[in-house]
Amino acid sequence: MSRTWQEIRVEVGSEFADLVANFLHESGAPGTILEAHDDRVVVTGHFAAPISTDPLAAYCASLGAPFSLTQAQIAEENWAENWKEYFPPVEIGERILIVPPWDRTPSAGRERIVIDPGMAFGTGHHATTSGCLGQIERECLARPLASVLDYGCGSGILAIAALRLGARQAYAVDIDPEACAAAEANATLNGVRNEISVMNGSATPLHSFGLIAANLFADLLVEKIPQFWLLLEPGGLLVCAGLLVADEARVSAAASKTGLQMEYRTCVDSWVVQSWRRMG
Ligand code: SAM
Repeated sequence: MSRTWQEIRVEVGSEFADLVANFLHESGAPGTILEAHDDRVVVTGHFAAPISTDPLAAYCASLGAPFSLTQAQIAEENWAENWKEYFPPVEIGERILIVPPWDRTPSAGRERIVIDPGMAFGTGHHATTSGCLGQIERECLARPLASVLDYGCGSGILAIAALRLGARQAYAVDIDPEACAAAEANATLNGVRNEISVMNGSATPLHSFGLIAANLFADLLVEKIPQFWLLLEPGGLLVCAGLLVADEARVSAAASKTGLQMEYRTCVDSWVVQSWRRMG
């Protein structure tokens, strides 16, 4: 008999989508899918063993905003095919093409970066990741980079992209051991395993960097920015993401206080990506 998966779908306001996705992930869903419909998002998670939806419903109710929750049993073969449909190739900037391992799309002059959408955040489909990749590409094409730090690396996508665009060496740091394992596996898939050092924890390497990418969340960015400034070479670039428009002023204040100069900014779906240059 075919194995079944429990599919849980939660529709929430877009500002709560990441919180619900995180809850599903921590409840055991190997990855989540977010589908935006105007200001609402449907967050879907699949579970190999049945779980009660009561804790999730209680969590959603605690957010104090309208939500709807549905669940269904789906057959293994449908799950595998559905899962693949959610990870189409993504073109970013002029040179990047992110593909899942099963994809055979021709690269057409782009750097083909293979990311397995497994247990770690960072497939290139979220506005924070694609925004960072756009700014990393600009920097890599503008000047040679000896060393890059990807702090909060998830799948390792940012470090891997920087290496594939010419950076010589990268450090990738994450507190989540599953993210570190995914980053190592993805580095191998992309032929850059020898150029990347993956570190589990929150300590930053004692090294200086031409580029630091930090796709985190606003409070952690505010806390870490002075440390990132110390680790940047003069002329180096700090790419900050994971902040919403509402968080922007305090992240900007923390960066300006160190003397960093804002160089570039993008905003997609309320997710802001900022690039800051260390001048001296
Ligand atoms: N860099 C990937 C990208 O851009 O798609 C993943 C970014 S994901 C939004 C944030 C990552 O930061 C997660 O993998 C999480 O485990 C990691 N993280 C959270 N707090 C951290 C901390 N204090 N130190 C290191 N990593 C952290």
